[in-house]
Amino acid sequence: MKTNFHTHCQRCRHAFGTEEDYIKNAVEKGLSQLGFSDHAPFPDHDFGNRMPFCELPDYLSTIDSLKQKYDIQLFKGLEIEYFPKYSNYYQQLFDEYKIEYLALGEHFYTTPDGDIKNIYFAESTLDYINYANEICKGIRTHLFTFVAHPDLMFLNRFAWDDNCQKACEIIIECAEKHDMILEFNANGYRRNKNTFPDGERYPYPYMRFWNMVQNTDIRVIVGSDCHEPHQVFDDKVELSYKTVNMLGLNVTDTIF
Ligand SMILES: [Zn+2]
Ligand SMILES: [Zn+2]
Repeated sequence: MKTNFHTHCQRCRHAFGTEEDYIKNAVEKGLSQLGFSDHAPFPDHDFGNRMPFCELPDYLSTIDSLKQKYDIQLFKGLEIEYFPKYSNYYQQLFDEYKIEYLALGEHFYTTPDGDIKNIYFAESTLDYINYANEICKGIRTHLFTFVAHPDLMFLNRFAWDDNCQKACEIIIECAEKHDMILEFNANGYRRNKNTFPDGERYPYPYMRFWNMVQNTDIRVIVGSDCHEPHQVFDDKVELSYKTVNMLGLNVTDTIF
């Protein structure tokens, strides 16, 4: 079954196309399930690169109305960071907004001092440990259905060290314990290859991380993380499937 549960749209201001544009592409490519996971707003803070809070009801009702129009199963989701202080808000998204799933997409995270940092600008691999611990806190809430790009931190250009190893172990052990799905994210393949201390590679997916997942039964889902309609199931998604199958990962095609 062809599916995708990591889909953006123009509401986040850095993706292109309407919800319907993505659905048309998914239908064309023969997908049977499509989940929308645009970058979620927070009611009282704008982290940037996401839909404004006031657009949330329209986003959800638009998907609802398109459910009748197309022969494909649609799901209403959001990609969102886990911040302990917003625990009521996540629950509200399910109870009041009738969200069907949340993807834990940790771009920003809470530091041990209570500050909020962006993992795109890690200062050392020590940040990876804090980042991994925050992902685990999110996993333990069971509010999230999968962890989007759990290896995102490796877009930073630090050499592999014990902190990297430890951060991977924290995420993987926690996912295993809580039966959490990890996403193999195709969007990393849409970014240019670059020179890192460990050679020329894509920023993510990061193979050392996935080699550690190989030794587990953790379910892995491929996510397109499309920001343009034609990317819903493109060659980067195909490459992702090829890679996870080659690695012998426990691939699942659905989160429902
Ligand atoms: Zn995005
Ligand atoms: Zn995304």
